[in-house]
Amino acid sequence: MMTDALLRELRTALGEQGVLTGNDIPARHGTDWSGLPPVVPVALLRPTSTEEVSAALRICHAHGQSVTPQGGLTGLVGGARPSDGDIALSLEKLTGVEAVDLQTSTLTVRAGTPLETVQKAAEEAGLFFALDIGSRGSCTIGGNLATNAGGNRVLRYGMARDLVLGLEAVLPDGTVLSSMNRMVKNNTGTDLKQLFIGSEGTLGVITRAVVRLHPRPTSGVNAICRSPDFAAVLGLLNLAREALGGGLSSFETMWPSFYNFVVERLPELRPPFPAGPELNVLIEAAGFEPDRDHERFEQFLVTAFERGFLTDAVVAKSEQESRRFWAVRHAGSEYQRVLGSITSFDISFSNDQLGDVVEECEAAVKANWPTAYALSYGHVGDGNIHLIVNIPGVEVQPRNEIADLIYPITGKYGGSISGEHGIGTRKLNYLSYSRDDREIALMGLLKRTIDPRNILNPGKMLPLDAVAGPTGEKLALD
Ligand SMILES: Cc1cc2nc3c(=O)[nH]c(=O)nc-3n(C[C@H](O)[C@H](O)[C@H](O)COP(=O)(O)OP(=O)(O)OC[C@H]3O[C@@H](n4cnc5c(N)ncnc54)[C@H](O)[C@@H]3O)c2cc1C
Repeated sequence: MMTDALLRELRTALGEQGVLTGNDIPARHGTDWSGLPPVVPVALLRPTSTEEVSAALRICHAHGQSVTPQGGLTGLVGGARPSDGDIALSLEKLTGVEAVDLQTSTLTVRAGTPLETVQKAAEEAGLFFALDIGSRGSCTIGGNLATNAGGNRVLRYGMARDLVLGLEAVLPDGTVLSSMNRMVKNNTGTDLKQLFIGSEGTLGVITRAVVRLHPRPTSGVNAICRSPDFAAVLGLLNLAREALGGGLSSFETMWPSFYNFVVERLPELRPPFPAGPELNVLIEAAGFEPDRDHERFEQFLVTAFERGFLTDAVVAKSEQESRRFWAVRHAGSEYQRVLGSITSFDISFSNDQLGDVVEECEAAVKANWPTAYALSYGHVGDGNIHLIVNIPGVEVQPRNEIADLIYPITGKYGGSISGEHGIGTRKLNYLSYSRDDREIALMGLLKRTIDPRNILNPGKMLPLDAVAGPTGEKLALD
């Protein structure tokens, strides 16, 4: 509970500007992009250094005060939304690229730096930071690591986790754990940085990171291809891997439900093909030999056509056309405007299952709500699909009933209820579809060990009863 003594100590450590309360707290700190209603935190902390993060956590730990870490607040599952009585700890003042090292192809950055700033700093140095997601202008690198973000180039470069060499994090009691390694190989025991990557701010607050940069590709080809069915899409994917090798960077599939919706409801995006029963695949290849790369890509399309993996294809002739293709794929950013409230899913599977999964999920939704939209698309190269459901004319969408249809199907196929967005609070009740009791118990044990007073993002990612002690007692705040 927030007391005057706690507030005084925080103000002494962070200064007046570092601790906001009441009406001084900007409204945006009340929630994230999950659509969950805002909760005003009891205070907003804005530390400007690792030392201040450490001091803030040490004080909150001593007082048993719960803390929600916040980055750019673009998370989709409620992880950065404070719970009642929480202090929000924003990394928005801990920003800046500290160094770009051309010798080691690494970049050292503070956690609150927007992803787009990191991408630009790499570009200015003639290199490439491969992580890219639609919220790049607002999300922060700390939030990207805390959620182990995925996005558009996982196929080639991996998830956020795969792009990190070193990390600095502050534990719930204020201990600073700094392993800002720049080396690729380091097998000196447990890789501790991985504890903080993808654990949604429940085990520590990430303050700095060393990320890997890659050579900047000098050529890029984008095409939208039409495939007759999902078996052909898989054939196309495997051929693309074989023919384009490491050059293949995106393989994004739009099922007819999604693509035809864009054609009919968002014609201003100018999708290249008319509506139809086929699947549409946006393929991106990037390389270092512009002429040969284009030739190789054309040859790949010819072979795919001959093998029946595609029936038509349009290759972007300009940067502008490539952007237009991607705008079709990213039409999701228009859903709220066109549809109003939606229920969205971010589920993943082994990619040979995706055809059946999509068919089953869309059929289950339609069987219950015949007029519903059930729109499927996603990163098929990574086995990850997004399903968007909207029941027209219904003001309050039955989110729980829809989730109760989709997650059991996910569990049946042995899939994951979260391919890239995390668990937060939105998906807590469904965690057991993807993680068994022993896994959940081990995650609880880790949480208890690192955060025995349960002050850091309590009730996020893991159900509170999973954080209960060995004798079953709950870890309540004092
Ligand atoms: C338009 C749009 C497109 C998106 N596309 C994608 C996509 O393609 N792929 C994808 O993976 N996600 C996507 N997202 C989701 C979101 O952008 C990511 O989850 C992103 O990584 C969150 O970063 P953030 O800085 O906004 O974090 P926040 O939303 O502020 O926080 C997310 C979680 O991380 C914790 N956290 C934040 N900063 C820290 C820190 N420094 N230390 C410890 N914990 C911290 C929070 O407590 C919370 O649990 C998209 C979101 C939007 C709105």
